[in-house]
Amino acid sequence: MKYSYHVHSNHSDGKKSIKEIIDYAKQIRLNEIGFSDHFHLNKNDVLIPGDMGKESLDRYVEEVLHYSSSKDPIVKLGLEVEFNLETVQEVKKIIQSYPFDYVIGSVHIVDNNIIIDWSVDRLPSNFCSDIMKRYWYKIQQMAKSRVFDIVGHLDLTKKFGLQPKIDLSEDIDLALKAIKDADMTVEVNTSGFFNPCKEQYPSEDILKKCKELEIPIIVTSDAHVPEHLTRDFDKAFRLLKDIGYTKQAYFIKRERFFTSFK
Ligand SMILES: [Zn+2]
Ligand SMILES: [Zn+2]
Repeated sequence: MKYSYHVHSNHSDGKKSIKEIIDYAKQIRLNEIGFSDHFHLNKNDVLIPGDMGKESLDRYVEEVLHYSSSKDPIVKLGLEVEFNLETVQEVKKIIQSYPFDYVIGSVHIVDNNIIIDWSVDRLPSNFCSDIMKRYWYKIQQMAKSRVFDIVGHLDLTKKFGLQPKIDLSEDIDLALKAIKDADMTVEVNTSGFFNPCKEQYPSEDILKKCKELEIPIIVTSDAHVPEHLTRDFDKAFRLLKDIGYTKQAYFIKRERFFTSFK
């Protein structure tokens, strides 16, 4: 079964319409296409340009659901949510009021105003120590909220090729334990191959720890154009097989199922 679940349309920062993306998915014979546009209920944190707020959600959901009778490909309703501890309970209620198939929880912001994947020049001097540490703590908090199904691009702080200057292994272990306890799925996001870090999110070491903990995975591309829907999926599947994974998750109405990959 071929599918792509981390996909952005022009409802957030993607370049193409829902219809154009579905047409392309059909062309490349995907069995399922899932949309996951950015949603952010901000409070004291910055709003990232392109993020949908509450007022935009109805229109987005309505347009995706318009294609819900499609069988070729099957169209899934997802969402990529910016995690904010202060608004997560309200987010939970909002999510429950729509028929989502899956919800990705992501951390793009640390300390309310540091966007970690935006511009390397704007990162503060303590990025490779305190900020990275607080990123992993925020991931832990996100998992503990138990509001989301999938962890979005875990390990995003490496995007620009910057390495931590302090030992973060304990912080990472605590985050992974929380992810396991919350029974979340970790996405193996291939967009990292095309960023300065030149590898998938998360790293091979972290994926090995996920395997030890038996945390389920799903391969995604974080596509912002249709041509990227399955970009470097083969490479990700090869790596996952080497690590010992043989199946990946898919979702129906927030219930998780598994399918083997070739
Ligand atoms: Zn993201
Ligand atoms: Zn994304």
